[in-house]
Amino acid sequence: MPDINPFESLKEQIDDAAAYVDAGDGVIGRLKHPERVLSTTLSVDMDDGSIEQFDAYRVQFNGDRGPYKGGIRYHPNVTEDEVRALAGWMTYKCAVVDIPYGGAKGGIAFDPRGYSAGELERITRAFAVELRPLIGAERDIPAPDVNTGQREMNWIKDTYETLERTSEPGVVTGKAPSSGGSAGRVAATGRSTMLTAREAFDYLGRGIDGATVAVQGFGNAGSVAARLLDDVGASVVAVSDSRGGVYATDGLDIGAVTTHKRETGAVGGFAGADRELSNEELLAADVDLLVPAALENAVDAATARDVRADVIVEAANGPLTPDADNVLTDRDVYVFPDILANAGGVTVSYFEWVQNRQQFSWTEARVNDELERVITEAFDRLVEAYESYDVPDIRTAAYVVALERVIDAFTDAGNWP
Ligand code: NAD
Repeated sequence: MPDINPFESLKEQIDDAAAYVDAGDGVIGRLKHPERVLSTTLSVDMDDGSIEQFDAYRVQFNGDRGPYKGGIRYHPNVTEDEVRALAGWMTYKCAVVDIPYGGAKGGIAFDPRGYSAGELERITRAFAVELRPLIGAERDIPAPDVNTGQREMNWIKDTYETLERTSEPGVVTGKAPSSGGSAGRVAATGRSTMLTAREAFDYLGRGIDGATVAVQGFGNAGSVAARLLDDVGASVVAVSDSRGGVYATDGLDIGAVTTHKRETGAVGGFAGADRELSNEELLAADVDLLVPAALENAVDAATARDVRADVIVEAANGPLTPDADNVLTDRDVYVFPDILANAGGVTVSYFEWVQNRQQFSWTEARVNDELERVITEAFDRLVEAYESYDVPDIRTAAYVVALERVIDAFTDAGNWP
């Protein structure tokens, strides 16, 4: 993947949209920089008696529209700038779907695959101790991201509640249902990707039924998006993970690929495929819809020239570099951006937080109905902005809508001190 600083990409995206927004440079400048950064090094006991260090970050990007909100990622490539970018994207994502949150993100720079469950628990709890003064149901609410899930969220909640001597399940979202998690949360990100794709194909006058799809990344976001796209009649012909991909002309059996990945750890080797393919081949596959659902910078300008899909729906955060975006716009490829297409995760996190505060659980059907309403309303607002502002692409329209909402909250609040 190209070595492009995602924080620079974020700033470029904001500058592109700022030209269409009525605000001074000072206000736009504020919207390109985080309000607060925690940078720490955790020292954690390992099973063999040694002590190991881990660099960890929490970035609170903007709190103008509500408590900071954003996931925690465990990955060797985590850097402070990556977390800054992801925190910024959270701010604008929450604004695009109009939920009452600001944006934040966290990360620890390590590969969790090499650690025991006990070590992971101690690493997570050590981070939670550092996060404790910053987080809270009214302050900053972490959630899962790459390589974290319900288990890690439960550890953070338990550490926080134990130290604060309180019960506050809304301090994190993405918890297990037994700890106050919401029905429908695990599938929410992939569901918003499917909903965005469905609306996009309707908008383009084609319909999703029968559309061929390639999905890069078969984790939480990508595998659910593939399954739900299959459910609405699309034909998912190619999927990949970090070890490679598989292709079937008549469409893959996504349930069977999911089982194969669970049993073997990879999509490669799936017996129902016609052939294996590399990630480069997947990105260039001759399909109607490409869904990047792995990590940022998956598509650079050179790869973008090879993309044959004419619709891209971004399940991952920041999968296209700004140069790739320019190439795709020039080639008339429609890109439906991450801050809409993967906003289902944070939207159902919001529903989880609401349920925690109400101490009342919704059914999965209610969660999915409310999510569909939020995503389709946000989609309609974006295409309305795309058509009325004369912006070059839908991403710019999304940032214009989001910036206007954050700027309104900032200016309405007045100046302090
Ligand atoms: P995950 O760890 O469950 O899955 C990531 C997948 O990407 C894995 O299958 C991995 O093998 C694959 N991958 C990694 N490098 C790859 C490469 N070079 N080529 C192909 N595949 C590769 O993570 P996730 O939660 O599904 O997150 C994926 C993306 O979606 C991230 O950008 C994340 O920030 C974003 N996202 C996730 C959520 C959520 O709720 N999980 C919400 C919003 C956004």
